[in-house]
Amino acid sequence: MILAFVEHADGQLDRLSAESLALARRLGAAVKTGVEAVAIGGESLAAAVGRHGADVLHLAQLDDGDAYVPDAWAAAVGDRIGALGPEAVVAPGSVRGLEVLAVVAARLGLPLAANCIDVHPGDPWSVTRQRWAGSLLEEATLEGPVKLLSAAPHAFPADEMVAGATDARIEPFAPTIGERERRVRVARRLAPETGGVSLTDARVVVGGGRGVGSAEGFAMIEELAGLLGGAVGVSRAVTSAGWRPHTEQVGQTGARIAPDLYIACGISGAIQHIVGCKAAKTILAINTDPDAPIMAQADYAVIGDLREVVPAIAAALRRS
Ligand code: FAD
Repeated sequence: MILAFVEHADGQLDRLSAESLALARRLGAAVKTGVEAVAIGGESLAAAVGRHGADVLHLAQLDDGDAYVPDAWAAAVGDRIGALGPEAVVAPGSVRGLEVLAVVAARLGLPLAANCIDVHPGDPWSVTRQRWAGSLLEEATLEGPVKLLSAAPHAFPADEMVAGATDARIEPFAPTIGERERRVRVARRLAPETGGVSLTDARVVVGGGRGVGSAEGFAMIEELAGLLGGAVGVSRAVTSAGWRPHTEQVGQTGARIAPDLYIACGISGAIQHIVGCKAAKTILAINTDPDAPIMAQADYAVIGDLREVVPAIAAALRRS
């Protein structure tokens, strides 16, 4: 059996978990076994994980509810590994997915391959995984009684459903968690200041970089994002300048996005930024510099001053 650790936000299966279930299904098909899921809380996930191919949803009942307590979550996943003996455990390529799996690996002495874009079961298993923020692909082998794998963000489809699937059967379990596992926990969460469309789920992201020039300059970026029903994303130059919050940063040390359209305004296209937006289906760059590195990634480009181009696009959208 392939066990998929899944996460949820407000009872909804999150996108990266749906992607990791796609990897789990491929592995299940390759080794001719079923897929089961494990989650911390989240009874409402039974339908979604069923649609994504899991027959059973193992639900950990923790005293902390579904508050994030990394070592306790890892202990819960480890508990199911001990009880179920899966061939492999797959986690989403999220910060939490990676942290939980790393702790599981350390606790159980199991091998872990993070950020996989391709996995071939065999003897031994072979994987292709992203290194150095995706600028390098590594071929590696994985040997061990249980293989731990995380799916690289956006390397597998999130919207692939199993035809005629039914809800996963819920199997509650209560792992033993000690005080040691509760030493580190999330004490409080602050919602991002900006409301509206979530950056990681947005179909359209309008990105602004240093070329926007100031915090005030982002009014036109926000307006364009609003007209397109999208979200604002920014480069690190912008968050470092304090123009926008870090929650909007796209890149290696920010969010990984996969919109249908990414409009990069005044962004040079440093590798650390590109790693966060290269899963976009279409990239439109607006930049005064025809030789900016972003041009190598862009499907379309407007060479010009964003202070003229962005309002012109907004005006055309308002007219349409
Ligand atoms: P710049 O590189 O200064 O580019 C500004 C662009 O705007 C230029 O191409 C210029 O031609 C154009 N421009 C200027 N004026 C106009 C105008 N009026 N109209 C149109 N175009 C104009 N960066 C990230 O973005 N995300 C990350 O997660 C991230 N993580 C990092 C992690 C590490 C460990 C390191 C070392 C760096 C990281 N960086 C990250 C920083 C990254 O290397 C770049 O410094 C940063 O992305 C540059 O931001 P920028 O493109 O906005 O600015």
